[in-house]
Amino acid sequence: MIRLTLPAMSDAERPYVARLGRTGSSNGVHDFELIGEDVDGATYVGRNGLVAIDGATAAELEGDVIIVDPAGGRAERILRRGSTHNTLLVTERCDQLCLMCSQPPKKTHVDRFALFEEACLLAEPGSLIGVSGGEPTLYKSDLLGMMERVLGERSDIEFHVLTNGQFFDDADVVRLRDPRYGRVTWGIPVYAAEAVLHDRIVGKDGAFDRLETSMAVLARAGARIELRTVLIADNVQALPILASYIARRLRFVEVWSIMQLEHIGFARTRWASLFVDHAADFAPIGEAIDQAMLRGVRAQLFNFPRCTVPVAWRGLARASISDWKRRYADACSPCRERDACSGFFEWHPTEQAEAGVRPL
Ligand code: SF4
Repeated sequence: MIRLTLPAMSDAERPYVARLGRTGSSNGVHDFELIGEDVDGATYVGRNGLVAIDGATAAELEGDVIIVDPAGGRAERILRRGSTHNTLLVTERCDQLCLMCSQPPKKTHVDRFALFEEACLLAEPGSLIGVSGGEPTLYKSDLLGMMERVLGERSDIEFHVLTNGQFFDDADVVRLRDPRYGRVTWGIPVYAAEAVLHDRIVGKDGAFDRLETSMAVLARAGARIELRTVLIADNVQALPILASYIARRLRFVEVWSIMQLEHIGFARTRWASLFVDHAADFAPIGEAIDQAMLRGVRAQLFNFPRCTVPVAWRGLARASISDWKRRYADACSPCRERDACSGFFEWHPTEQAEAGVRPL
């Protein structure tokens, strides 16, 4: 697994953004130049003085944009050079408590929008930057302001924002019609067409109704939307009905992503009651996909190893797991479709992974 947070020492007084480089390419105020390297890590110098980073080589860090937290003694690799999976975790707070949450929320919030903005402005050309939480739109005004300024200055950058869609309202329609939002996609979860079931899964009464309100706002704004549905035992049989609902009411979305469960957070402790072995029974998933596609809604499968998906739907299984947390089973070695396959999360039960693969 690629470590995104590394031990770091810096005498600066407060957190700052730095772009790490080997040689004399330091032509910006955020550029830090390599001055030494040993078996533990690399040391750089820049406008905030020295920063010594452990646990990675200078070659691995070359071109990375990091946030250094001197008090916390760490550096976060916010934008790794060459990665297409860079994500800003803007808050750990959330108003929902999903049964299978991969990152259970915290009560506290640390505001780092100014640092994220500086970092995004240093992104590689053509970057797609993820935004995640917690729930990013709990800080909607700060979030939109940050994205608008970055998008305004960098016409080559796009954002993909994961949000539960609980906080959009009529006042947002005009703002979200700004052409800059043509480079923002909203990834929004919907778990069932039945309000009671959706609300139970997300742990919040009224969440489904509020989501419908937000979807209407986003539709009126012409927003780009990716719907997301995590597969769990509670909703698997209701997927075909959800497909029908999406085709009738949410047809304006760009794509519907059906996602296999991640063995972490709440899902780890509830694995036995939540996990659906789609390889054993793909019927409700296949029926849902067919219903959606026949009615003009594009569907795709995330976190489904390709060999575990029946041939008819295999082409929809994307290599969706981020590079820093993806692995393959030992049994995958001879597979010819590895590059197109999601593989497994680093924390997926090894026995389950090894037993389930059938190299293609
Ligand atoms: S054998 Fe491994 S790499 Fe190949 S499709 Fe299955 S899980 Fe993916």
